Amino acid sequence: MGRPIVAIVGRANVGKSTLFNRFIGRRQAIVEGTPNLTRDRIYGNSSWQGRDFVVVDTGGIEPGSDKGIKSKVLFQAKQAISESDLILFVVDDRTGMTPQDEEIAELLRRSKKEVIVVVNKVDQFVKGEEPWEFFSLGFEDVLPISAEHGKNVGDLYEKIVEKLPEEIEEEKDEDDILDVAIVGKPNVGKSSFVNYLMGSERVLVSPQPGTTRDAVDTLFEFKDRKFNLIDTAGLRRKSKVDWSVEYYSNLRAINAIERADVVLMMIDANEGVTDQDKKIVGYVHDAGKPVVLAVNKWDMIEKDTYTSQEYRDEIYYQLKFLNYAPVSFISAKTGQRVEEVLNLMEYVFDQASMRVKTGLLNEVIQEAVELRQPPAYKGKRLKIYYATQTSVRPPTFIVFVNDPELVHFAYQRYLDNSLRENFGFIGTSLDIKFRKRN
Ligand code: GDP
Ligand code: GDP
Repeated sequence: MGRPIVAIVGRANVGKSTLFNRFIGRRQAIVEGTPNLTRDRIYGNSSWQGRDFVVVDTGGIEPGSDKGIKSKVLFQAKQAISESDLILFVVDDRTGMTPQDEEIAELLRRSKKEVIVVVNKVDQFVKGEEPWEFFSLGFEDVLPISAEHGKNVGDLYEKIVEKLPEEIEEEKDEDDILDVAIVGKPNVGKSSFVNYLMGSERVLVSPQPGTTRDAVDTLFEFKDRKFNLIDTAGLRRKSKVDWSVEYYSNLRAINAIERADVVLMMIDANEGVTDQDKKIVGYVHDAGKPVVLAVNKWDMIEKDTYTSQEYRDEIYYQLKFLNYAPVSFISAKTGQRVEEVLNLMEYVFDQASMRVKTGLLNEVIQEAVELRQPPAYKGKRLKIYYATQTSVRPPTFIVFVNDPELVHFAYQRYLDNSLRENFGFIGTSLDIKFRKRN
């Protein structure tokens, strides 16, 4: 399955964003070379001793004061709770416990989710001096840290990994059902797409309970292939306009993406690629999920003004890092090319599941290296010895080299392109890792 989701909740000013930044800071530096990747501030990738997880910050959507605690913060906390696998409940040692903390605690206790109480701003940490008062919140795990000074954060990591749900091995190949996340900004036509499918005869529909409490999935068949649309309830619900809606739908989308085999990303033909679109596809790319881009409402476009080729070029220009994704021009209203999208989803899933034989892989890499010499740095030249594919979805390669430090982003991209030229890998990111071999 996808990576587990760890949500940071708590009232304002306890240090949630500081903690969030600490979680993603180190990793962020490593992926620095990735071009054009607009990062959504609300989530970040984190990892500890080989366990990957997603950290979600609820900080950005809190009201400035604690006045609205009853409705707004509690509402937001509820959403975050239902979408997460583990909650970090941050409290402030300097102010001590407040009535708001107790309210949030009550909500968390009722949710029966795993909770770690993170007592922040313990800058002078004395072993044995526990933040006793916070034990009365009713949770077993209470950990003093200083997010700002990085104190005890290692212990927190360890506790998180200990509490994360067991990793479930993929059984996707056996169940033969393609789990699809449909994502895109509000009003792009996601529900219309689902409704179109529901209405068409060749589709066998059966609603299924999804994994989160109020989610409903929809199973249907097309050309002997079973598709499962994840969280159709979330797609079809028309939410009231509220300050938390964007946050909530983002979190919901993140959850759906993590569970998905394939992502269908919808872009509004009238608007082109927006900043919000960039955030969403940035997430899809990070999650390493195969993706199809559908430009919806194509029926509304004056075709002399825009040809699909021009439009496609513009999308790739806007979303440079996603130039591996196929683009389809559709209308959820008329059903134009909806079948093409279903075919493409199956196709990108197969592409992402492809394994390249080691011999062939090394031939291609050799040839690429001969065509373009690896760069030298401080008189030392990168040497590539051997490559092997270690996994699929996304296709993951380990390349053994004399010194991984000599691999520049541009050369990595060159190898990525060479693999694509030879093998396709349409619609999927590639994960190329470099290891030292003496
Ligand atoms: P949020 O509203 O919960 O996201 O809180 P912020 O992360 O914005 O932090 C609120 C304030 O607390 C900021 O001024 C931080 O610098 C400060 N802060 C955060 N962590 C610590 C800490 O470990 N020690 C101290 N002394 N201050 C901290
Ligand atoms: P969602 O918020 O992404 O689920 O978007 P909706 O499916 O609710 O669609 C928002 C609006 O766009 C509705 O008024 C739809 O009728 C309209 N719409 C959706 N798809 C199309 C399309 O392909 N063509 C046209 N002309 N309108 C569309």
